[in-house]
Amino acid sequence: MDSGGNSLPSGPDGVKRKVSYFYDPEVGNYYYGQGHPMKPHRIRMTHALLAHYGLLQHMQVLKPVPARDRDLCRFHADDYVSFLRSITPETQQDQLRQLKRFNVGEDCPVFDGLYSFCQTYAGGSVGGAVKLNHGLCDIAINWAGGLHHAKKCEASGFCYVNDIVLAILELLKVHERVLYVDIDIHHGDGVEEAFYTTDRVMTVSFHKFGDYFPGTGDIRDIGYGKGKYYSLNVPLDDGIDDESYQSLFRPIMGKVMEIFKPGAVVLQCGADSLSGDRLGCFNLSIRGHAECVKYMRSFNVPVLLVGGGGYTIRNVARCWCYETGVALGIELDDKMPQHEYYEYFGPDYTLHVAPSNMENKNTRPILDDIRVKLLEYLSTLQHAPSVPFQERPPDTEFHEEDEDQQDPDQRWDPDSDMEVDDNRPISIRSRVKREIMEPDLKDAEDVKETADHARDNTAVSFSTGSTSLKPPNPNLGSDQQEACVKMEQDSSNKPPDQPADMNL
Ligand SMILES: [Zn+2]
Repeated sequence: MDSGGNSLPSGPDGVKRKVSYFYDPEVGNYYYGQGHPMKPHRIRMTHALLAHYGLLQHMQVLKPVPARDRDLCRFHADDYVSFLRSITPETQQDQLRQLKRFNVGEDCPVFDGLYSFCQTYAGGSVGGAVKLNHGLCDIAINWAGGLHHAKKCEASGFCYVNDIVLAILELLKVHERVLYVDIDIHHGDGVEEAFYTTDRVMTVSFHKFGDYFPGTGDIRDIGYGKGKYYSLNVPLDDGIDDESYQSLFRPIMGKVMEIFKPGAVVLQCGADSLSGDRLGCFNLSIRGHAECVKYMRSFNVPVLLVGGGGYTIRNVARCWCYETGVALGIELDDKMPQHEYYEYFGPDYTLHVAPSNMENKNTRPILDDIRVKLLEYLSTLQHAPSVPFQERPPDTEFHEEDEDQQDPDQRWDPDSDMEVDDNRPISIRSRVKREIMEPDLKDAEDVKETADHARDNTAVSFSTGSTSLKPPNPNLGSDQQEACVKMEQDSSNKPPDQPADMNL
């Protein structure tokens, strides 16, 4: 087994991993609007499944600290962040020029609580990075994150702020090299663009390419300047199945781990690459999708798992629940436990669903060509490494006890901001297509989700003050059971972190 990078605090060969899971019980209440395919409710459905499969008591459950303006401004432009903070559904008519300028209004609508939503999902990913940096967990999970299309000064593809870029910037404070892997069906353009000219972050995106949003991610796009060969793109066609996908994922990622030796990995687990997705056209099973998590986990390197796309929400919840099990090393029963969203999962009420019989347009010769090409890029890197590939020093300078003594306003060194790439070639940004939205409400999931939105909008059933994690009590009803698993308020990203050398 290849094992690049650094060993986990829990030991190199352990089956179990220490997992920190970030969840805000409010996140399911944010609502993009009727007919919009992006439904934060899927995060709450995932959480309910985790609770009823009994997984919450095996991980540290943390409520993210909302990211502040200055945290978001580590990547995003000040005026864009101010705009996101101030815009409301009531005032948007007076700001038409700004809406257009920041690409907000259509695919990325203004909705109630938009800015808090951004703060919450970004807070989870950055909080996860801080936990990993401090060696407090082996795997951090934020299913609300993974909004990979957001740009420095622009919303895109249902994404407003790029929590992934922010989390990677945090990881770079401690790790010389960070690997980003993206298995969403869409190209991870926002993250690639942010790190296109650096050799400290390698981005690898597997996506549908050709007449598909966002239009970028050609196999020939490999990075620029110092970043040449540090952006990799794996263009795929409709109907790819588990076997075809793994025939690329494993050899490519195995080689990347061997050559790049990252100190930490961020894996974007967009679930729109699953079979039967409302916007997607791949044919992956949940096991096939989760195989990527299993494989990246096997290298004993700290991993941040984030969500992303995923528009058939019952399958998104299935997938991220199963992948949380994979992170923990717990195999889940296919028979789903009774819970408040059980009716979404009929008629079979199982965790797994069979992929379809759609045609796989990715023929063996095409897949072979793609694999050969990418391995060729990587062998070029192998023979000309521009970053010294040595192990990083241990995290001894980080002690939780010290953190409370420090001024939270000094959390990030304002002078340490990296130059985030305004120099990349223009061609990448000019090939943008719109993500297709289906404005109808005929999907039964939509109707249920709209009803649940109305029902849950006022209900907050979580206590957030306690640190106790108790097993579910079979004598309690589901609401009471949920309340048994108390969440901790994440305090790990409040104190200042070591200012990093950001001369990328
Ligand atoms: Zn997507």
